[in-house]
Amino acid sequence: MKKRIVILGAGESGTGAAILAKDKGMEVFLSDFGIIAPKYLAILEKENIEYEQGQHSMDRILCADEIVKSPGIPETAPVIVQAKAKNIPIISEIELAGRYTDSKMVCITGSNGKTTTTMLTYHILSHAGLDVGMGGNVGKSLAYQVAREPHEYYVVELSSFQLDNMYDFKANIAVLLNITPDHLDRYDYKMENYVKAKFRILQNLTPSDAFIYWKDDPVVAEQLRRITTEARCFPFAEHREEDTAAYIDAENNLIFNTPATSMAMPRADLALNGLHNIYNSMAAGLSACLLNLRKDEIREALSDFQGVEHRLEYVETIDGVRWINDSKATNVNSCWYALEAMTQPTVLILGGKDKGNDYSEILPLVKEKVKAIVAMGKDNRKILEFFGPHVDTVADTHSLEDAVATCAELAGEGDTVLLSPCCASFDLFTSYEDRGTKFKEAVRARKNS
Ligand code: ADP
Repeated sequence: MKKRIVILGAGESGTGAAILAKDKGMEVFLSDFGIIAPKYLAILEKENIEYEQGQHSMDRILCADEIVKSPGIPETAPVIVQAKAKNIPIISEIELAGRYTDSKMVCITGSNGKTTTTMLTYHILSHAGLDVGMGGNVGKSLAYQVAREPHEYYVVELSSFQLDNMYDFKANIAVLLNITPDHLDRYDYKMENYVKAKFRILQNLTPSDAFIYWKDDPVVAEQLRRITTEARCFPFAEHREEDTAAYIDAENNLIFNTPATSMAMPRADLALNGLHNIYNSMAAGLSACLLNLRKDEIREALSDFQGVEHRLEYVETIDGVRWINDSKATNVNSCWYALEAMTQPTVLILGGKDKGNDYSEILPLVKEKVKAIVAMGKDNRKILEFFGPHVDTVADTHSLEDAVATCAELAGEGDTVLLSPCCASFDLFTSYEDRGTKFKEAVRARKNS
């Protein structure tokens, strides 16, 4: 009898998983409780995959031999609770894809910097001529590529939600960028659960695999005291310490040291600015060194990378004011790094859907660099209350247009306006991309008015 697989969620990962499962001869049923986007509906129709939307037919779902769950569906969703009660194995799309490929996997996780590092690593590998695909949270789903566009190498961005449902999957190079509180609403508000999820990136690693991580991250360091890995370890840090495989030397060069490759590169040649991007560049560069790529190819690619939309993205300069879109900063730590990279007095746009933020982490940098805060959200009370006593001007706005106009009034020549909101976007926008795109449109409209 054919294996019955049920896919929950018809986004990029679910649709890809359905195609792979169908190609491997399984009986596939895809169920999405919401409305399926037209792009994916068209694919399901064309591929003749049975699906439903706007409901979960539990009788069919609970007959599954295995369920592939979209990372967006929480463990507490009734459909998952019922499937678990029936002991139906629940896996992620990446776990499914991993069963059908022997390609080399560079897997990247962390609270912040995943997409940047994944795209940068992909850029280096493709620049060096490898046959490489990019999957996980960015680009086409890994399952689709394994089914229809196989590559010899993959660079895979892994969120904690994907890692939650991965068991036998194995990376060849595992990268852990950092761990700061995020998504705690999905982990019973327990940091230890979130940390454990991130560390699943280490599961199944063997002595021939590599683990690259940020040595100065206190949460990572603490967890590494408790667990062991068989993999070879390549920590990176801002300054040279015992065993660091990448660091910045006294002459401001980035140094990479792996068994096969030692190389240096002036920090000034890096394409991406900011301390956080040094870390991201170290992680990507170390992965490339471990794959024995040529040093000049690695250096070239680290210096000509184009950057990623919505991450410290320069938009325009209008009347001497620089406007920067960092809409992807959906937590406090990523805003910290954005502020760290600011060199001019800054008008900071904060706000959106709060995920239990503690703003004290950014307070010192706000005091040092921020001349005004413009809160932009449905409910700005927490931001107004927290920053009110510390910042001269904290404006209360409830729409993008109003926020941009207020920033234009508050910022003068030589200032920067930074959208780095610390919050999810769902109160006023459909996604962080929507927020960033509308921000850029509003800024450019001012330029042209
Ligand atoms: P992710 O995919 O993990 O969400 P992104 O690369 O999309 O990460 O970046 C998200 C936000 O975090 C951006 O605002 C970016 O400026 C910031 N950021 C990028 N890399 C790091 C890092 N290594 N540490 C902290 N913040 C970072």
